[in-house]
Amino acid sequence: MSDQIEKVKCLIIGSGPAGYTAAIYAARANMKPVLYQGVQPGGQLTTTNEVENFPGYPDGITGPEMMIELQKQAERFETDVRNGWVTKVDFSGDIHKVWVNDTKEIHCETVIISTGASAKYLGIDSEQKYLKLGGGVSACAVCDGFFYRNQEVVIVGAGDSACEEAHYLSKLCKKVTMLVRRDEFRASKIMSARVKKTENIEILYNTETDEVLGDGQVVTGVRAFNNQTNEKHVIPATGFFVAIGHTPNTDIFKDYLKMDETGYIINKPGTAKTEVEGVFVSGDAADHVYRQAVTAAGTGCMAALDAERYLAAKDADFEFVTPMY
Ligand code: NDP
Repeated sequence: MSDQIEKVKCLIIGSGPAGYTAAIYAARANMKPVLYQGVQPGGQLTTTNEVENFPGYPDGITGPEMMIELQKQAERFETDVRNGWVTKVDFSGDIHKVWVNDTKEIHCETVIISTGASAKYLGIDSEQKYLKLGGGVSACAVCDGFFYRNQEVVIVGAGDSACEEAHYLSKLCKKVTMLVRRDEFRASKIMSARVKKTENIEILYNTETDEVLGDGQVVTGVRAFNNQTNEKHVIPATGFFVAIGHTPNTDIFKDYLKMDETGYIINKPGTAKTEVEGVFVSGDAADHVYRQAVTAAGTGCMAALDAERYLAAKDADFEFVTPMY
């Protein structure tokens, strides 16, 4: 059953730094934005602990706090922030159609996609089994680390996320074993150095996961193997954390927008425009390179400005506020 169709000038999908920044700019430009938060209100930053590299916070700020502030700022200019998940789109016509929770249909003059990216898993059966059971597999140390206080855990990955999460876990857990599949880190020097000098983090290089072990309900250990010697050994652990990167949340757009082989939306260089007029993209959904909160916010701003210019060019009655160059 479909609710009555709603008409919206600017619909923003996603509530990370990109979405909220787009909302701030769009709201201040009379575009009356409606923002749908998606399944993870606040986006990936809500799973981050300390954000130290967003300009304007000399003492750092936690990810969840920062997202609350961004939401407040967007609402201050009357962004209509809503709970709901966009499940389908149709970008084939002049008016872009969007469905929320499979029922509510919205007709939009402009759409700003800020759907971000989601955590990847290894995909091995035992990992998926204990993930589904809620028995000790997680891709978010900040969300779940608390449950493993004073216990031993394993974390997979060697990027900045893995380092940040391993460091966070080391504050809570008795021991953290980090499985690094190559003989070096991918993470920045400062992040990997922090991990290397933390006493209760043991780093195993050239090491991968063979099996997540458990008693049928919860994780009890990890069988790892050295990919140079093929030697296997068991690491006792009650938690198995996966921090190996992300996949863009762009599936629902694949019939309409150009994407790279991983699913990142391809924007027109130097703009937030997609190849569909009136549809714009910002944040990690289109960025596999920088993937930072501040770059996401920057492209959110670009998307709102591009959307405003698009409306101003299309609709003589639209009173734009930002100077049109
Ligand atoms: P990355 O893609 O940077 O790193 C993924 C890591 O996981 C790599 O070390 C990779 O190994 C490893 N990996 C991937 N697949 C597997 C697998 N199947 N088995 C074992 N290991 C695997 O992802 P991140 O999420 O760490 O970071 C994403 C972006 O966000 C980066 O640009 C990063 O700099 C940024 N970031 C910044 C932070 C900050 O500044 N505070 C915090 C977190 C992220 P390999 O190296 O061998 O490919």
